[in-house]
Amino acid sequence: MKNIPSIKRSTTQQKDLAALRQAYQGWSNAPDPFTRLTRKLSTSLSLETQLGILAEEIGNTIPFDALSYRHHIARRDFVYVTGLGGPHRCEYRLNLEGVNYGTLTLNRRQRFSDDELQGIEMFISAAICPLRNACQFITIEQAALTDALTSIPNKRALDEQLERASLLSDRHGKEYSLILCDLDRFKTVNDQQGHVVGDHLLRLTAEAIENATRNSDSVYRFGGEEFAVLLPYTGEQEAKDVADRVRDAVARLRVDCGGTELSTTVSCGVARHLPEESANNWVARADEALYSAKAQGRNCTRVFASIG
Ligand code: GH3
Ligand code: MG
Ligand code: MG
Repeated sequence: MKNIPSIKRSTTQQKDLAALRQAYQGWSNAPDPFTRLTRKLSTSLSLETQLGILAEEIGNTIPFDALSYRHHIARRDFVYVTGLGGPHRCEYRLNLEGVNYGTLTLNRRQRFSDDELQGIEMFISAAICPLRNACQFITIEQAALTDALTSIPNKRALDEQLERASLLSDRHGKEYSLILCDLDRFKTVNDQQGHVVGDHLLRLTAEAIENATRNSDSVYRFGGEEFAVLLPYTGEQEAKDVADRVRDAVARLRVDCGGTELSTTVSCGVARHLPEESANNWVARADEALYSAKAQGRNCTRVFASIG
């Protein structure tokens, strides 16, 4: 076996390493508020957690009554509020490299002094990069759960919600139902009118399904020309009524194809969640009901009949 040669270090390198050790000790003991703040912020990519940390660290030096943050991220309004407001406030638009990452506001009963305002600005400067990363994380996370063509939640989002619904249904004994909708003879639309028209029709269908369902129901692109609707606190019969409403809404769609008007229909399969049932099994039963609807002539709804 060969001897491993020992590493010879120059005096300069030894000095550098000693300085590094000292810096590490200073950093890990984190005596200054900015080191402490940035270290804490780096432990999480959750914007909510990061704002909580920022509020705590600012509050340790500069007392305030309320801190709020607002930003429109991934087509949603993100709002964070801690504490109760006061009449005096300072407000900062968080900009980095020309991009806005929301507005941070602090409220207090007493006026903020110039020194305090300077202190707040220093905290914000130290926090802006981690906050930007957290905003970008929300955008990426949202994109991973959204269908690019129709802008509605995708199959991945549905899988997450089905798991959650199965758990909640078992825990609280509430009924959850699932509708699968599949466009009828959609291949013909593509073949005769082209994919651009096909894509347009898919977007319109997603919109029509969303408009035909309640706010508490959620609509997903299940794949290709299939959509899913998850209905909390809804039994089979009520879900069937919703499915029929969806069919009606889709059947009323019209696409102008240069002289001719294109219309379409959907077939629907409904299944309510059964006790202790896996999400996969639930989907498989809704799919079986959908298959029956196709087999029985299309443009109709079939329910996977469950007993009890
Ligand atoms: P059925 O009534 O039995 O459901 O017939 P169908 O023609 O709708 O079903 P089939 O599975 O034979 O064809 C589905 C078609 O959907 C084929 C595929 O090209 C089309 N499709 C899937 N995803 C998209 C998409 O994103 N855009 C477009 N334009 N077409 C798509
Ligand atoms: Mg299909
Ligand atoms: Mg189809």
